[in-house]
Amino acid sequence: MTFPFESLKACLPELEAEATENDRDGSFPAGGLTLIRSLGALSAALPKSLDGCGFGTDPGGATGLLHLLRLTGEASLPLGRLLEGHINAIRLVARYGTPAHLRQLATHIRNGALCGIWVTETTNPVRLVRTEAGLSLEGEKSFASGALHVTHPLITAELPESGTCMLVVPVGNNRQTSSSVVSLSGMRGSGTGRFSFTGFRTTPDAIVGEPGDYLRQPEFSAGAWRGMAVALGGIDRLVTLLRAQLVTRGRDSNPYQRARIGEALIARETAALWTRKAALVADDDTIAPADAAATVNLARIAVERAGLDVLELTQRGLGLSAFIKSNVVERIMRDLATYLRQPAPDETLAEAAAHFTRRDPPRS
Ligand SMILES: Cc1cc2nc3c(=O)[nH]c(=O)nc-3n(C[C@H](O)[C@H](O)[C@H](O)COP(=O)(O)OP(=O)(O)OC[C@H]3O[C@@H](n4cnc5c(N)ncnc54)[C@H](O)[C@@H]3O)c2cc1C
Repeated sequence: MTFPFESLKACLPELEAEATENDRDGSFPAGGLTLIRSLGALSAALPKSLDGCGFGTDPGGATGLLHLLRLTGEASLPLGRLLEGHINAIRLVARYGTPAHLRQLATHIRNGALCGIWVTETTNPVRLVRTEAGLSLEGEKSFASGALHVTHPLITAELPESGTCMLVVPVGNNRQTSSSVVSLSGMRGSGTGRFSFTGFRTTPDAIVGEPGDYLRQPEFSAGAWRGMAVALGGIDRLVTLLRAQLVTRGRDSNPYQRARIGEALIARETAALWTRKAALVADDDTIAPADAAATVNLARIAVERAGLDVLELTQRGLGLSAFIKSNVVERIMRDLATYLRQPAPDETLAEAAAHFTRRDPPRS
């Protein structure tokens, strides 16, 4: 399958309009998902052998995936987050699961499944309990994107005496009583919330890979490049809107505003170059796993910094008009600021710095 990027580009205004509409009451992007599903975005990460585009699963598929996630994030960060979670789950099943696991997931996706990756714990972490009937689950996940809509989340769960396992749990039953959406200030359309797995049953063949695989490097850190690609799309959109709104107000030729435009373009390109480097490093099996993980960790912080810079430049450049609710910039700034909150940024930078203190990062 060849992905129809031009068709996706043509849909960006429609997807953005839905994101703005959904922001008001935190509605889920049902229309946008249907649209990108119809273009093949939800099966694009499946290998070509399973009628996908091989984005992120076949060798050389990273560039196409970067383009897909960036464009989706440009239209809508919440939709981009949902797509990224769906693709992350496919990637982990492709990497650690059996061929049968992947074939089964591909069938579910063709039948309309939406996957997700739910790993963030609460004080009641998810664990697997052995019963006479098989395995049952207890505990809950927090910050689960698409908590009310994902049908096939890949989750982590503790198995006594084994460690952290990954498994795909079809969650058709009991959903309304087991999930709720948290009220975030941004990314309101991503339907991010809590999901209780207590009472769900599963079987040993649902376990993907071996205990410990989820935390295995370089995949654990390197997979973060996909989230960066979505954030990059949001950065793209803000930089475009900053320039366009300065032109509309006749403020673009002011030397201070010109400096902001220049700095915003530099920040965007910095984010783009780091994301591309991270994507290529993550896709390159010849690079030592620890080097790949640490490079992507550096990239994560670089993209976060670029995003924060663009937020500040937009606020200072457009002034209060960037805070008026009817200006789409206001919503995208909230979405981007929220989306940039990813786990343990201090540790991410410190670990990468420690790794590369006595050796150089891979050169591209
Ligand atoms: C829109 C959105 C959607 C999401 N969707 C999902 C999803 O589908 N599935 C999922 O599993 N998760 C999801 N998450 C959660 C995400 O993966 C992270 O868990 C979350 O973003 C962590 O953010 P945080 O800022 O609270 O991180 P933290 O790691 O708590 O970092 C906050 C600050 O505390 C510092 N810090 C961290 N640990 C310590 C410590 N031990 N001591 C002192 N300081 C510390 C950090 O460096 C940072 O400065 C989502 C998050 C967002 C924003």
